[in-house]
Amino acid sequence: MAENNRFDVLIIGGGQAGIPLAHELAKVGKRVALAEEKHLGGSCINFGCTPTKAVIASAHLAQLARRAKEFGLRIPAVEVDFPAVLDRARQISQEYRADLHKRFENTDNPKLLGGHARFIGREQGAFRLVVGDDLVIAEQVVIDTGTRSTVAQIEGLDRTSFICAENWLESTELPQHLVMIGGGYIGLEMSQFYRRMGSKVTVIEEGGQVASHEDEDVASALQDLLAREGIDFRLKTKVRRVERNDASVSVLVEMANQSSEIQATDLFVATGRTPNTEELGLETVGVKVSERGIVEVDRRLATSVPGVWAAGDIRGGPMFTHTSWDDYRILLSQIAGDGARTTERIVPYAIFTEPQLGRVAMTENEARKTGREVKVARFEMKDNSKAKEFGETEGFIKVVADAKTNQILGAAVLAAEGAELVHMYVDLMNAGAPYTVIRDAIHIHPTLAEAIQSAVQEFD
Ligand SMILES: Cc1cc2nc3c(=O)[nH]c(=O)nc-3n(C[C@H](O)[C@H](O)[C@H](O)COP(=O)(O)OP(=O)(O)OC[C@H]3O[C@@H](n4cnc5c(N)ncnc54)[C@H](O)[C@@H]3O)c2cc1C
Repeated sequence: MAENNRFDVLIIGGGQAGIPLAHELAKVGKRVALAEEKHLGGSCINFGCTPTKAVIASAHLAQLARRAKEFGLRIPAVEVDFPAVLDRARQISQEYRADLHKRFENTDNPKLLGGHARFIGREQGAFRLVVGDDLVIAEQVVIDTGTRSTVAQIEGLDRTSFICAENWLESTELPQHLVMIGGGYIGLEMSQFYRRMGSKVTVIEEGGQVASHEDEDVASALQDLLAREGIDFRLKTKVRRVERNDASVSVLVEMANQSSEIQATDLFVATGRTPNTEELGLETVGVKVSERGIVEVDRRLATSVPGVWAAGDIRGGPMFTHTSWDDYRILLSQIAGDGARTTERIVPYAIFTEPQLGRVAMTENEARKTGREVKVARFEMKDNSKAKEFGETEGFIKVVADAKTNQILGAAVLAAEGAELVHMYVDLMNAGAPYTVIRDAIHIHPTLAEAIQSAVQEFD
């Protein structure tokens, strides 16, 4: 075997952890290879965060233009050029991807290997893998292979074309009537996007609330806001069968033992993510995976096999770009540093609907389950000056704190720019400071940041 197929570290998957880790490990003198079978950038850049937020920006503008009269302006009609909206998003994705490729040009370390990677066994303490058609030997391996859309077990779905996270950017015809299966964060963001582009949208969710991880008051407020834009929600409803007839698709749903049929033009399946672990040959080296296919890791992101690590969505837990990116910092610390950095961290996230839901740490429900004494503060965005002046009065802020220490345990900011605003609580929590620090600070008037302060003033 050629000497140049031997590496200190092989990273499988060019996702949000893999790429920065490859470059940083190379910088500290490790010989590194990164195997990617499709496109550098993984889910986030190619069909996830980047293009979804780019089209959400178009949807935001369309909606604002429709509200022009409220602001004393006349915009006679908003015309949506759907293919152009997707084109813009695609171009941004391609730009990011090209930038990632450039970083691998003119260097042999880290070395970019194109092709599918899988373990085939061990060799004197190292790991044997095949990448494409080539044998590769690596002392350590990092698995960052991400997830793909879960295809729900629904009769007829295997014979029906449908839209999902991986192909929506190629579906250039605006759906007349879209049935969204799944009311999680991808389902909600994309439903609002299609609705604002002009589609009729029906969301089918089998649970009793959308955004199932959130407190009921937050989830129902979000649902109400979206329903007011004309999105039809069917909760506690199961899709039993789908069948395509030429241009239409009939969707048989069941709620409380009552069946009914929805005639739509398109289906979007957003029923969760399935880990890409099946074709990795993990059994050849003994890496343990859960029943769901998640790679089991400890707080250092070490798998059950010393020398094999996992990062990003594949390791279970929070599935976000920023957590995957933080995993790279953990692995840099574990593989080439002092090992101090672990998955003990405060994780924020957002649902990029409008208004956005910015979230950090525990919900009220989760905080109460811990058994500690908690207090909850709530502030309505309609009582914030800037929100009123800019016509962004929807939503509220909810903060949960430990009643004894005044430490914030979690927060939900359902507001314009909620994903930005929540960081004030995130930083406070990371500093280990009580909410009184924000309460006693001065925030600029008029800003939405004043609402962050007003919310914690409600504790007193
Ligand atoms: C529609 C959508 C919107 C999203 N929006 C957001 C958002 O706004 N904010 C946010 O934080 N997160 C968002 N996410 C989630 C985010 O995209 C993921 O959490 C993140 O990309 C996970 O990164 P990763 O490193 O785990 O893997 P990925 O980015 O999925 O990368 C894995 C890579 O591994 C490659 N691969 C897989 N198997 C092999 C193999 N055997 N050999 C070689 N290569 C292989 C794949 O081709 C892929 O490129 C969104 C996701 C979706 C689907």
